[in-house]
Amino acid sequence: MPSVEPLVQFDNLQKIYPVSGFGRKKASLRAVDGLTLSIHEGETLGLVGESGCGKSTTGQLAARLLDPTGGIIRYRGADLAQFRGKSAKAMRRKIQYVFQDPYASLNPRHAVAELLEEPLRIHRIGDKRERKRRVDEMLERIGLEASYGKRYVHELSGGQRQRIGIARALMLKPEFLILDEPVSALDVSVQSQILNLLKELQSDFGLTYLFISHDLNVVHYMSDRIAVMYLGKVVEVAGVDDIYAKPLHPYTQALVSAIPTEHRREKRERILLKGDIPSASDVPAGCSFHTRCPLAHDRCRRAEPDLLPAGSGNRSVRCHLYA
Ligand code: SF4
Repeated sequence: MPSVEPLVQFDNLQKIYPVSGFGRKKASLRAVDGLTLSIHEGETLGLVGESGCGKSTTGQLAARLLDPTGGIIRYRGADLAQFRGKSAKAMRRKIQYVFQDPYASLNPRHAVAELLEEPLRIHRIGDKRERKRRVDEMLERIGLEASYGKRYVHELSGGQRQRIGIARALMLKPEFLILDEPVSALDVSVQSQILNLLKELQSDFGLTYLFISHDLNVVHYMSDRIAVMYLGKVVEVAGVDDIYAKPLHPYTQALVSAIPTEHRREKRERILLKGDIPSASDVPAGCSFHTRCPLAHDRCRRAEPDLLPAGSGNRSVRCHLYA
């Protein structure tokens, strides 16, 4: 069960890029725009939404691969931006990132054993012998024989490559893993093997996951809670069963209605949204979802709703219908 004190807390987090090329008008791209969210130790928080909603940017901010332009990320209550030098390096060990495409994130010139040893060398952990022992141990733990250490990335299947991506992230014994679409590039049969491996590793190593995906079936399988993002903001956050059984926000309702019916308990009619997600450099005023929302009313075009507690359980929704 998740603990009460969050492991990670995003507090009004922002990532805003200045944009040129719009004539004289100054514009900004609001990739993440006032995101407040907590992740509890030992849980998996699923982060879902359409492409361009800001979910990968959120993950990269959490891993400090990007610097926020506003807001705070707290880790065990401490502001991550305050860590410098050795303490920042120690903090980086605790938070690791698994990329969607391991082929792009793993150096093809290095054999697997070198790729796994590298984080230990960078952090000056163990001597050569100790590092080899830890590499062999990790290969076994992710279901590959020690002989795979001599292979190169191009000699591996997609599933094996993602196992190596996960293993590399685990070499420094992190506490918090950001999994950015970790199975979306894999065949369905291989996806389930990787998802089950991630569940086993979470249980064995006491890991906390931020699981980013556009695939609601995969997120349902993996997550304890789910946060739904739209144009840089969380629009609904709730326990996984609450979200799937009774989505409250009209956007969540549309996403859940698109899940093939054999995967849903309740047979709801598909809600088709109008148009595409607007550009993050031209966010609609009021509720940013009002241009596509089938329930939009006059107030939605004028006033932006806050993320507020709604319904039963520990659920929050950003919609005037529940304010
Ligand atoms: Fe729809 Fe209005 Fe709710 Fe936004 S605030 S989701 S436009 S009903």
